[in-house]
Amino acid sequence: MPSISFLGTGSGIPSADSFFSSSLLRLDGKHLLVDAGEPCVHLLRDRGTILSDFDALLLTHGHVDHIGGVPALLQGCRLLGRTKPLPIHLPGEMMAPLQAWISALYLTEEAMGFPVSWNAWEAGTMVDFGNDVSVMPYPNGHLRACYVGKSGADASRPCESFSLEAICGSFRAIFSGDLASPSELAPLLEGPVSVLVCELSHFRAEELASVLQSAALETLCLVHLDEDYAMDRGQVRALLQELLPQVSDVFLPEDGEVIDF
Ligand SMILES: [Zn+2]
Repeated sequence: MPSISFLGTGSGIPSADSFFSSSLLRLDGKHLLVDAGEPCVHLLRDRGTILSDFDALLLTHGHVDHIGGVPALLQGCRLLGRTKPLPIHLPGEMMAPLQAWISALYLTEEAMGFPVSWNAWEAGTMVDFGNDVSVMPYPNGHLRACYVGKSGADASRPCESFSLEAICGSFRAIFSGDLASPSELAPLLEGPVSVLVCELSHFRAEELASVLQSAALETLCLVHLDEDYAMDRGQVRALLQELLPQVSDVFLPEDGEVIDF
């Protein structure tokens, strides 16, 4: 049975109540960690041998609340004796900086004791994880919306940011990552969707509902909530349930919650 463990469901604003973005997707025996916001290594440690066993790390974009926990995650895998290879899939622009950061922390691959492979997402190229589990990256404009034209922006940066679609048989899970606009989800909403894990920081709930209006969506999980929404979770849930009567379940999972499908 597929499941998602919501490790960190907070936004980019530090909070005592919710940690930075990280979710563990389980599909047919494969465990895929989607984003590695802090303190994901501690949260995974609480879940048995998963640090030794998880199959891949999938990073949506290079904002610190999605990627900042990677060195500690690798260090944790090392200290707990991981030997299984770890593929990391990430925006290509983050590869060299992340590798440099990790080696600056004295985490060489030889010292880690397990092989790490670095794989840049390519739009339109599906990644196969075996057991009929695959992931398709969809580029979005989140980082461009955050930086292009803003003061101090480095115009040479590609601003690569992705939403991810994970497929196993007829089960489809979509992780929005962060978005410039909910309309960017449209190409992912063609055909039935088992679960959409969507951020709710960069647009209003009503805008999201208008994009999802005609989607064949079973379960909607809202994470990465804007501060106002985070304070009024019940009302957000009620609003989306009212606006999206075709969606069977609307959840606003908290850190540590596991949802089975
Ligand atoms: Zn972001």
